[in-house]
Amino acid sequence: MLDLVTIPCLTDNYAYLIHDAATGQTALVDVPEAAPILATLKARGWRLGTILLTHHHSDHIQGVAEVVAATGAKVFGAKADAHRLPPLDRALVEGDEIAVGAETGRVIDVSGHTMGHVAFLFPASRLAFTADSLMAGGCGRLFEGTPATMWASLCKLAALPGDTLICSGHEYTTANLRFAATVEPQNAALLARIAAVAAARAEGKATVPSLLSEELATNPFLRAPLPEVKTALGLSAAPDAEVFAAIRARKDKF
Ligand code: ZN
Ligand code: FE
Repeated sequence: MLDLVTIPCLTDNYAYLIHDAATGQTALVDVPEAAPILATLKARGWRLGTILLTHHHSDHIQGVAEVVAATGAKVFGAKADAHRLPPLDRALVEGDEIAVGAETGRVIDVSGHTMGHVAFLFPASRLAFTADSLMAGGCGRLFEGTPATMWASLCKLAALPGDTLICSGHEYTTANLRFAATVEPQNAALLARIAAVAAARAEGKATVPSLLSEELATNPFLRAPLPEVKTALGLSAAPDAEVFAAIRARKDKF
């Protein structure tokens, strides 16, 4: 099992470190800013080997040059985004495998928020790094992809084992769940999650990562296929992707 460390960055971003204790190998997912990441590496005594980039937005990559200068880590990111990511040592496509110690991660194309957005799945440790695709209680805004593209991406993530930890990119959970309650005001699991998230935030705790099973029970974007959700939106006969699009459009105006 990989060790996971969640690192708050900037105002509401998260970076993640994964570490294989047996070999000492360490990888970083996204680099919103260098300082808190370098401080965490130093505190743990870990040597960074690999940087995994999810997508090209500056709040996920702007610390890369400084972390590379300090650690010599190799930078991996989507081949489709090579022209707008920091210089890549390895350009990735869906299905590519990434070794961290004894574990093998897999690249999943989760385009929608941006085209070329990738997620990193480490199945043995049940970790999925989803950044701004599937988020805690929500999903990323569609800056580049169509609703159909994002829906296809979310379906790949929804099919993972329920005990997979969804390591997403931002602390947006409170606002996401406030919106979710407008879609499903009677969802008991959602109401319980809203209370749990409020308690965590009152203590200054992160609400990520979250379990996929929790997302399936409370995240309105993953719940587009449910008859009760379709009915609540007046779309009982619509295809899932169309219902997802309607929920996304509502959230954009929320
Ligand atoms: Zn983004
Ligand atoms: Fe972001």
